[in-house]
Amino acid sequence: MTSPGNRHERLLGKVRDKVAGEERALLDWLRSRPDYRPRFQYFLGLLSDRRLSTIESRCERPVIRLLCVQAPLELIWAAGFQPVKIASGSSAEAQFSTLNWPALMCPLIKGILTNLETEAELAPGPWVIPTSCDWVVKFWEARQKVAPGGGEVQWLELPHLKNQPGSQARWLEEIRRLKKFLEKLRGRKIGREDLLQAVMALNRAWAAVIELKKARRDGRLASVWFLTILGAFFLDRLDRWTAEVEAALAELGAGQSAGPRIFLAGSPIFFPNFKLPALLEEAGLLTVADDLCSSERTTPGGQVFEDVSESGLLASLAGRYHQGCLCPTFGDNERRVNNILSQRRESDFQGVVFGVLKGCHPYDLESSTIEDTLKCQGLKFLRLETDYATEDRQNLLTRLEAFRHNLAGE
Ligand code: SF4
Repeated sequence: MTSPGNRHERLLGKVRDKVAGEERALLDWLRSRPDYRPRFQYFLGLLSDRRLSTIESRCERPVIRLLCVQAPLELIWAAGFQPVKIASGSSAEAQFSTLNWPALMCPLIKGILTNLETEAELAPGPWVIPTSCDWVVKFWEARQKVAPGGGEVQWLELPHLKNQPGSQARWLEEIRRLKKFLEKLRGRKIGREDLLQAVMALNRAWAAVIELKKARRDGRLASVWFLTILGAFFLDRLDRWTAEVEAALAELGAGQSAGPRIFLAGSPIFFPNFKLPALLEEAGLLTVADDLCSSERTTPGGQVFEDVSESGLLASLAGRYHQGCLCPTFGDNERRVNNILSQRRESDFQGVVFGVLKGCHPYDLESSTIEDTLKCQGLKFLRLETDYATEDRQNLLTRLEAFRHNLAGE
């Protein structure tokens, strides 16, 4: 007779196999593209083995598990850790659960919870969690059901009103607490020089990201490659990743823009779920910019400091990661729509495709207000609701093709 434990293990084994199949399919598709270059193999290699133990030995430093994008990465590098944003784009992981989660749940969070079961190494170890959306706030509680105990968590209570008096001071206090948490874990102080070095390393990486953005805008780099490169951001030492991006940029050919230009907004897109970017290509739409927290918003950008004392650096970092953040969970965040409008001046797109993951309420809620504002500014807008599964592929493609005709005035 099969025991429940054996059955559970067998189910988890099946999920692992399916995830490996999804990853292989995407990697094979990327390698078979006419615009594949051997230089891209570095990024594909990183994505093909994202185990934390591999990342730790690759980077020769312990990993800090992160959710969302509001924890200052510079502080984590300065403490001698490798920040790794934990995410899942796997359809098998998002669909699987032996526990009773809500029917309409953020697939990213559900995928991570499955990942905690299938990849046991994810569970123990330190986490940093900013209180962004409700799914993230409830993540730790859910995680305890899947993998009880193990690992410390440092919450960062995110002030959701940026312009409220005292909000910036409260966030700076959270960042100071994060610094103490990291120092305690590492058993040493984070000094001003550590911080400056990390800031400079990220500034160099950001300069490379700016060039990547230009290459995509000019049609020299397909959006799927942009997502691939940014998707590998946390998987190696920052200096090595940056050097590889610089080398890849030097080898890019001439631009070949084709099709109406669009801006991609909305819920994040994580490896190995490139359904939407692949469909955009197939429909003949050229994605020239985005505001995804898994892509252009992986980091908030480079920093220029007026005050280079330790407290000045900390205050400046805190401000950048809070005031500059485009997350839809803020109550007063006109920057989101203003960012799209200012990028339109730079990138000259005619329409916005807004992807909403089923169960991702913050992006879902804001899509209609963003739509109204952008339409008033003469931009065409298409909202697509989807999940990680492939069943709606044809339906999405038909709508994207109709949108292309609309943009092209056909
Ligand atoms: S913002 Fe959306 S995608 Fe991100 S964790 Fe929350 S619900 Fe999931």
